[in-house]
Amino acid sequence: MRSRFGKALVCVATGVAGFVALARAQNAEPDWRAVEEDTLRHYQALLRLDTSSPPGNESIAAQYLKEVLDREGIPAQIFAADPQRANVVARLKGSGRKRPLLIMGHTDVVTVDPAKWRFPAFSATRDGGYVYGRGAVDDKDNLVAALMTMILLKRGNVALDRDVIFVAEAGEESSTNVGIDFLVREHFAELDAEYCLAEGGGVTRKGGAVAYATVQTLEKVPRRIELVAGGVAGHGSVPLKTNPVVHLAGAVARVGEWRPPIRLNETTAAYFKRLADISPPEVAKHYRDVLSNDPAIRKAADDWLFENEPRHSSMLRTSASPNIITGGYRFNVIPSQATATVDVRLLPDEDQEAFLEQVRKVVNDPSVEVRYPTAATRPGGREARLDSDAFRALEAAVTRIYDTVTVPTMGTGATDMAQLRGKGVQCFGIGPATDLEDGPQGFGAHSDQERLLESELHRFVRFNWDIVTSLAKAK
Ligand SMILES: [Zn+2]
Repeated sequence: MRSRFGKALVCVATGVAGFVALARAQNAEPDWRAVEEDTLRHYQALLRLDTSSPPGNESIAAQYLKEVLDREGIPAQIFAADPQRANVVARLKGSGRKRPLLIMGHTDVVTVDPAKWRFPAFSATRDGGYVYGRGAVDDKDNLVAALMTMILLKRGNVALDRDVIFVAEAGEESSTNVGIDFLVREHFAELDAEYCLAEGGGVTRKGGAVAYATVQTLEKVPRRIELVAGGVAGHGSVPLKTNPVVHLAGAVARVGEWRPPIRLNETTAAYFKRLADISPPEVAKHYRDVLSNDPAIRKAADDWLFENEPRHSSMLRTSASPNIITGGYRFNVIPSQATATVDVRLLPDEDQEAFLEQVRKVVNDPSVEVRYPTAATRPGGREARLDSDAFRALEAAVTRIYDTVTVPTMGTGATDMAQLRGKGVQCFGIGPATDLEDGPQGFGAHSDQERLLESELHRFVRFNWDIVTSLAKAK
């Protein structure tokens, strides 16, 4: 009972007015003007570190982050499977009344073609209200927002009901063996949390105005399927019934034309419903129709989406896209083998062996072997719950900071949240506001002019702060 007695003493000593002032100081909103200077400084500094992968070299970013965290008095550790590709994990302790909240950003970026960049890719040039650089929206934005939230919690001496864990991981862009896989395998106790926030969502602006916010609550599981047609080699002047090129071509065409059955989950059902509510009537009709129980209505909507909004078509099902085809080496030789590779994005709860069996049925050719050539790289996990206090906090923060609706989404691509979901952490993908027009104009993630509005970077920091404090601050 010593601590209670101590607190009572403070109350008596400072009086009511002093206590109120103290409470106010603890709960005070940060001085956002001052915060913006720090945010921009860290953002530019991180963008200027070339962490393009391969080779990655993320340790330069890890070192930078560790120094910042040390300076702020936030305990941080470096974990590295490869000394050049280190990860950072930092923790602010809470009372332990609730399980931890993890906030995460990856330090690696994809490679660049320097000739294509108007501003050098690692210059973090400010121009017309934007900051340009590789990683501007993937993922040094999330990284800095999470870092700033940690700094503000520490500086404000905010009492917490749960630990807040900061993770800056290497290798998200297809070298997860040095990043999230390594962390989950070797140091999961340091990451274990009830909730995590990472990349994967975002706020969409149209014509400069906020239209809606997406929060990613689950993602599809990437997997590769190989179609291998075998036959007897022979002279091209004598066509053979067993020609593997012919058999493979037929198999590829059948798989390519096949659209696996529609299967919705809590997230995608809510996604299309909420999107319908905020879309023009002629488009909204398709989003509503795809939820219909009438197979004919649903099929018509599905056809429209496949033609006009293929990402939405992919969200309805496990998808299969044949993307590589190889076979033959001389025009007058019938080869003995031809192979195709199909990019499969499985619904998170798909039975992978049963799906392979379905593909075999679609191929319907005993001379074509259908197989997974490699093990799965990302586990399938449970979707984060829409009735959780985390999703409610996210929605409330979206309303407060962006004054718009929240739409839960299932990512068709893969992120490092998959590994955490595989361990039972409920993960939510968030991101700053970007213009819908930016993507097609070549300013998006992985583009040659990746950029983010400074004003939106700062708004995203406030958004992070809002969610984290409402989930973690002592009540
Ligand atoms: Zn990313």
